[in-house]
Amino acid sequence: MSQPTPEVYEQGKGMDAHNQVMREIRSRKEASYDPHEPTRVWLDEDNTPTGVKQSLTIILNTGGCRWARAGGCTMCGYVAESVDGGSVSHEALMNQIDVCLEHERENGDEPADLIKIYTSGSFLDEREVGAETRRAIADTFADRERMVVESLPDFVDREKIGDFTQHGVDTDVAIGLETATDRVRHDCVNKYFDFADFEDACAEAAAADEEAGATADAGIKAYLLMKPPFLTESEAVEDMISSVERCAAVEGCHTVSMNPCNVQRYTMVDDLYFNDGYRPPWLWSVAHVLEETADIDAIVVSDPVGHGSDRGPHNCQECDDLVQKAIKDFDLRQDPSVFEQVSCECERTWEVVMERERSFNQPLTR
Ligand code: SF4
Ligand SMILES: [Zn+2]
Repeated sequence: MSQPTPEVYEQGKGMDAHNQVMREIRSRKEASYDPHEPTRVWLDEDNTPTGVKQSLTIILNTGGCRWARAGGCTMCGYVAESVDGGSVSHEALMNQIDVCLEHERENGDEPADLIKIYTSGSFLDEREVGAETRRAIADTFADRERMVVESLPDFVDREKIGDFTQHGVDTDVAIGLETATDRVRHDCVNKYFDFADFEDACAEAAAADEEAGATADAGIKAYLLMKPPFLTESEAVEDMISSVERCAAVEGCHTVSMNPCNVQRYTMVDDLYFNDGYRPPWLWSVAHVLEETADIDAIVVSDPVGHGSDRGPHNCQECDDLVQKAIKDFDLRQDPSVFEQVSCECERTWEVVMERERSFNQPLTR
């Protein structure tokens, strides 16, 4: 891939232009949300470094990501889910946590071992979730085994992680790195930070891990985005294989979650999709990356959201559920032979796409 000249990033071009377009797209949203209710909460099970655990996933409504307000990432619909006005009080955030605990009591047999907290931005950004709220949440879940909180790399430091590990709770920070390739992250995703910032965040987690000693572990879970806009299917696959390998090689990063892009409303991806300029990735591509990276020293998982639909990762409709099931099996067992048991005629079409799709003719199929 060619490197852009510095002029490309001048006013009105590059990132500025991306942000301008996205601000316009997002200004079309009209809905508003209650700051006392979480955006979403659900129970599930997850593969962690200490085995498969029952999990409670919480999406807190925190007023939104600062980067999204500037324009934000090309595929991210989170901002359309945020509270108007941009900040949520300590009391309201704790009310949201209460709603989640209530949900857990009503729907789970016992308290989940694993708690995952996402926000519509960064949980560790103190302008989104203040230190008082962060510590109160750490206290609330002090009796659980493991926590995952989401943050951009800039806000990750060992003291904040220490709020959780001091209770003996293993703690992971989930970072939406999207790709290890800076050029793709900047120009296709419109995310501002560099791989070096991710490496710094991993070093902070490794330091927190050392400070916690034997009482708790701390680490990083990297989230990658399979097939941002403007990449062909084969470029996306190649980018993911090298990204998984580069993340797994960084000390402090023990899990890579490679997630196929889906078309969310009020995003640039949505505009491209609507104008025949974008197709979400094939599930064969997801399976291929998992197979190719199965022998690296990290847990690699994928959760194809919206699989089988036009706006989500999909194959031919006939085999979507089967391939999705194999991916879920792989997530729990890390055994690439699960993919040997699935096949479909559309695999041939996927191979042709991998071979023949170019930037100028994409998407080659729907
Ligand atoms: S992907 Fe993350 S950083 Fe990008 S706009 Fe969405 S919430 Fe913000
Ligand atoms: Zn098929």
